[in-house]
Amino acid sequence: MTTTSVLAAHGGTKALDIPRPHYQWPAVTAELEQAVRAQLHRSLSDRDASGVIGEFEAAFARFVGAPHAVSFASGTSAIHAMSRIAGLRPGDAVIAPAYTFFATATPFAHDGIEVRFADADRYGNVTAATLAEKLTPAVRAVILTHMWGNPCPMDEIVQFCGTHNLLLLEDCSHAHFASWRGRRVGTFGDMAVFSTNQKAITTGEGGVLVTADDRYRELALLFGHYNKRCQKEIHPGAEYYPYAFTGMGLKHRITTLGAAIGVHQLDHAPDIETRRRTILTRYASGLADNPVITPAIVPETDGQHGLYVLGLRFNPANASVSRDEFVALCQAEGATEVDAPGSTRDISTEPLFARRDPFAPWVPRTPPATELPGVAAFADTFIKIPLWGYAGDAPLVDGYLDVLTKVSTAVAR
Ligand SMILES: *Cc1c(COP(=O)(O)O)cnc(C)c1O
Repeated sequence: MTTTSVLAAHGGTKALDIPRPHYQWPAVTAELEQAVRAQLHRSLSDRDASGVIGEFEAAFARFVGAPHAVSFASGTSAIHAMSRIAGLRPGDAVIAPAYTFFATATPFAHDGIEVRFADADRYGNVTAATLAEKLTPAVRAVILTHMWGNPCPMDEIVQFCGTHNLLLLEDCSHAHFASWRGRRVGTFGDMAVFSTNQKAITTGEGGVLVTADDRYRELALLFGHYNKRCQKEIHPGAEYYPYAFTGMGLKHRITTLGAAIGVHQLDHAPDIETRRRTILTRYASGLADNPVITPAIVPETDGQHGLYVLGLRFNPANASVSRDEFVALCQAEGATEVDAPGSTRDISTEPLFARRDPFAPWVPRTPPATELPGVAAFADTFIKIPLWGYAGDAPLVDGYLDVLTKVSTAVAR
């Protein structure tokens, strides 16, 4: 055994010795600083879309290939707007993934809507079959997440929703650059949301609702914006126009500084995509023969990965350690961003989903556990690593691949 093959956790030399943090997003370039500084002088608060907010929304709509984009303060608030625009109300149900970041589903629960949790396939995604298991007469909509950047099987899901007359809502927060069989995600459903928190395209905090429907666009303005912008942009003949002055009572605008960061990010979207896709391909080939971990990437014939992070499946049968031990060994080698995510997991038993009366006192309840074998199999074996995507990331990209290879070789059996 050479000294370099001894694991750092067992007294060997670390395979990666680069000071932390190993992942910062976005890359704060002089150009980005200049964009923020220019916006500081231009405007800190816009009442309508005549400034940077309109520019960001137009650029985002072009980026996705959707007719309309409306910005929000967060992905969460945009998902809540989708629920209200869809007209969901207590007594209705929505089918959501059990395996997702909780904000895919919590905005529905906020309003007392029943969330029915669907199982996952080998990419962590819902399918027409897992959705069908959850169908009841109360179900009026489906929300899905393209998990960790892999597009859901959209042909069958669009067909399923059409057959059962369900609204289709997409949570594209992991999937800014994803497509399914040549078509961008976010354009399959009635509405879609992209969080622009620290995702592949970021505004710091923020979210964008996209839709092809003129009416949904106007309602999105009512649920997130109000007054000047609504009066200017909502058709005076619409039955909801009388609400234009007040909106629906809440304000969920993105900040102008966030929008300025977003415009800069979208200007550089082709570079971000090229760089991240190159890294993805590098890892896919570098780990192709690795018996312990397998990149979770849908085949090219089905779609293009969304480039949020790279997901890896751990193969316990081929390893002498558990998934969590494997992650700890990688971290000990210096690859501190190798991660088994905690807040993205089976969310189906969270007390919020048992709370059907939004005004009920604080009685903790637990929703009944459901059989979700696909979720368990995915969540128990999942590991993620960053995709970086900025100048100077090469030593990290190489170093993480070295660490994964070194640890895998040591624990393979
Ligand atoms: C980040 C994220 C959200 C929430 O977006 P925020 O902008 O953080 O509110 C929702 N769904 C998924 C899948 C996410 O990753």
